[in-house]
Amino acid sequence: MTAPKQTSPTDSGAPSLTVPKLLTGQKALVTGANSGIGKGVAIALGQAGADVVVNYVDGDEAANAVVDEIKQAGGRAYAHRADVSSEADVAAMFARMMQEFGTIDILVSNAGLQRDSAFHDMTLDKWNKVLGVNLTGQFLCAREAVREFLRRGVVASVSRAAGKIICMSSVHQEIPWGGHANYATSKGGIKLMMESMAQELAPNRIRVNAIAPGAIRTPINTAAWNTKAAYDQLMTLVPYGRIGEPEDIARAAVWLASDQSDYVVGTTLFVDGGMTLYPGFATGG
Ligand code: NAD
Repeated sequence: MTAPKQTSPTDSGAPSLTVPKLLTGQKALVTGANSGIGKGVAIALGQAGADVVVNYVDGDEAANAVVDEIKQAGGRAYAHRADVSSEADVAAMFARMMQEFGTIDILVSNAGLQRDSAFHDMTLDKWNKVLGVNLTGQFLCAREAVREFLRRGVVASVSRAAGKIICMSSVHQEIPWGGHANYATSKGGIKLMMESMAQELAPNRIRVNAIAPGAIRTPINTAAWNTKAAYDQLMTLVPYGRIGEPEDIARAAVWLASDQSDYVVGTTLFVDGGMTLYPGFATGG
């Protein structure tokens, strides 16, 4: 039997589930956490028992609202403004985290943006902006986190690993994307940075993995879901028949950050409703 397709651009269809308390006492940093996926991840990590740094670059009010929601769930949290593509900003963000929380156990490198353009018109500025935030930003944050994981090592009462890094990638680490060459390049870069780090750092009990979301309902891609026509068109790419919600990614992040996934190293978890299954071939191609 075929499940009914989700046809409304506003009605979610995503199940609402309780987040298990898998991260009690752990210290987490989520970049780009005042909007969309990062916001959902930060709140879920807080609900799972972690203390959370809510990084953002613009939008104090939205960042403070995420902090409040985490505090309401019983966790500690504060907002920290920093541009992840700036080495000095990232160093200062980690220095403050060491002061406020003492250490870091979980980094979710999520901050990202698009600056779309036909390839022949793409300015160096657009290219550098996307690579700077989406790829170099992940490098800078991961480097700081790894330095602290190596310094501190495993604390068995907290986690079986010395630290966990989750890189927010995209289905576009696999699917080429015309008109978005800078974005797809940044996500392809994340795939091999993540895998190289995972290979190098696994002997130190540092687990590095990625999540590759498909189409998730956030401000980054509003035009792809905010009208019925756009939503119906999007659904031709999603075999599961509904758009993803930030909570779908958040639950995957909680699991990947927890000891439940302790033997998962260097993997990209696709959370995409089947978008990477070549849906155009479902009827024979
Ligand atoms: P969003 O626009 O809602 O959120 C992006 C976040 O990144 C915001 O909090 C923004 O402030 C932050 N940010 C941007 N530049 C920054 C900088 N220089 N320093 C610090 N923070 C910065 O978008 P989203 O959809 O939630 O995207 C989050 C991540 O998920 C991105 O890496 C994106 O590539 C990835 N992703 C999203 C989708 C989707 O369908 N929404 C699909 C695949 C991958």
